[in-house]
Amino acid sequence: MATIPKTPDELLIMREAGRINARAHQAMREAVQPGISTGELDRIAADVLRKHGATAAFLGYPPGGPYPFPATITASVNNELVHGIPSPDRILKEGDIISLDCGTVFNGYVGDSAFTMGVGPISDEAQRLLDVTETALKIGIDKARAGTHTRDISRTIQRYIEGQGYSVVREYTGHGVGRTMHEDPQVPNWWPPGRPRRGWHSERLQPGVTFALEPMVNMGHPATEVLDDHWTVVTLDGALCAHFEHTIAIVPDGPPLILTAL
Ligand code: MG
Ligand code: MG
Repeated sequence: MATIPKTPDELLIMREAGRINARAHQAMREAVQPGISTGELDRIAADVLRKHGATAAFLGYPPGGPYPFPATITASVNNELVHGIPSPDRILKEGDIISLDCGTVFNGYVGDSAFTMGVGPISDEAQRLLDVTETALKIGIDKARAGTHTRDISRTIQRYIEGQGYSVVREYTGHGVGRTMHEDPQVPNWWPPGRPRRGWHSERLQPGVTFALEPMVNMGHPATEVLDDHWTVVTLDGALCAHFEHTIAIVPDGPPLILTAL
């Protein structure tokens, strides 16, 4: 599948999809506190999408798959990295960190973004993990310019995270976003050293290319596994992890447009 740059009209729709997604994030951010359930956060995000005439990109994903995702958001707590299934029984407590990911479909186009935050006061070490992961996303976004190779974004993100003493998750990558949630280009958060490997494709970015960057950072070992619910990804060593994501659009000059900003 080739990377297809978007037209200016398509970018306007994607900006609107991204803004609605950001509003869902904002509503959840304001609601996060000890005692709330991840199921309640899901309901809050679903209400925002409905109010704006948008639908949930995650609900029922992937189409035709054996385990369609059952909710609007993914809610992943502490050692859960991504894809946690929201539940009324999952109650947040003070000191937890929670990663909230949401995808919006508006007029046929997708916005995809995620963030991690503390529930009440959190430890200094957890806060540092959040700060480093958010900064990794910012650094990656700043690198994403017309003419840049995607592998240079990958390397920049990896170098920063590892330089801070954390590890980069290998199994999940940034991805093109448009009419579907996952299209080309793939933009991993790391790049294998040495000669190009089979299956690894880097491309030079052109204006109009839209994709999500989403560094996933583990405090300990990079390895992850998927739980028996077929979705929730956890760190293999049980250590904390964090995830920040924006969908962006490459412009002719300068830093990209952040489509999922408020
Ligand atoms: Mg994504
Ligand atoms: Mg996402």
